[in-house]
Amino acid sequence: MNILDELGKVSILEVVEDLGLETERNRMVCPFHEEDTPSLVLYPHTNSFYCFGCAKTGNAISLFAEVRKLSIKEAIYQMAVTYIPGFNQTGKKGVKHSSQPIELYKSQVRKVANEKPLKPEYSEIYEAFRDFCLQQKSNSLSESALEYLQKRGFTEKTIRDFKLFCIKDYSEVSWYLKQRFSVLDLQECGLYNERNNLIFYAHPLIIPYYRNGRMVYLQGRVIGKPQENTNRYSFLNNLPLTLFNADALDKVKTGETVYITEGAFDCMRLCQEGKTAVSLGTANIFKREWAKLFQRVNVVFYLDNDAAGHRAADELEKIFTHFNISCTRKQLPANYKDVNDYYTDRLGSNEQLNLF
Ligand SMILES: [Zn+2]
Repeated sequence: MNILDELGKVSILEVVEDLGLETERNRMVCPFHEEDTPSLVLYPHTNSFYCFGCAKTGNAISLFAEVRKLSIKEAIYQMAVTYIPGFNQTGKKGVKHSSQPIELYKSQVRKVANEKPLKPEYSEIYEAFRDFCLQQKSNSLSESALEYLQKRGFTEKTIRDFKLFCIKDYSEVSWYLKQRFSVLDLQECGLYNERNNLIFYAHPLIIPYYRNGRMVYLQGRVIGKPQENTNRYSFLNNLPLTLFNADALDKVKTGETVYITEGAFDCMRLCQEGKTAVSLGTANIFKREWAKLFQRVNVVFYLDNDAAGHRAADELEKIFTHFNISCTRKQLPANYKDVNDYYTDRLGSNEQLNLF
């Protein structure tokens, strides 16, 4: 019998409960640093934890050791006595352990957790990705991302409202997600490719898509102009695109104007100027089922000023007319490529940002 293998089957949730620690939705006060609000998160599907306050990570054994103030060796011994049926303590005389820890447990021998771990929702993975990036330290990369957004004319409020974030250390977040989720889940949710790499290697500026308050999609962007052989954007691997800022459609009043743009930045910019807008992500995708979201409003297509944009507007007008949705088209002046360029040129860029 391998003791560590056996202990690895014991659910971290069960261990925490047995230690008498309070949790709420798998979150608890961190024993590794002083805090009032719980920032240590338990991950039952990998039997591990991560603290968003102090970045401490580990498994049930290290948590047990910390809470009980034991060495790892002592923790393993005590846990084995408690959780492994028939574990024989006579053969382990060499292990020193502190006073009667076991009486606190509900029973001497616990069943091992052998239920299949729950499959995480994609949103849970995206949000874990976001949360980790947000707590990485600012560096030159995140500063250049901010500078770039500022140059494109975005205010601090807009960046915050749309919850943009930046991958500050690619290998760190890539490693973290692999610790927390299975390779299969990471690939299925589109964040990792077939070679098992996080897809946003060249695209550290992340534009999240939300629906009903949950993150449902995300898109990465290069900072500034793309290098040769690199696309400006990276979209999730093998996952269907969804509308950007779709939640705005729930708040809009009947008969109001809603702009439909190609890029997320154009949409953000129109919102910054007080308008209601959503974006398609790209000109050549529109799902017919999206049309019903626009039934109460006046749609204005405000697409890019290029062949693809004009073609897309033609196509969209046909679809919307078919569904009896009132729609018109707004054309950018000849010398402007997209909505955001137009506004930035007309209104200038904004104050120094100091955000992430
Ligand atoms: Zn902590």
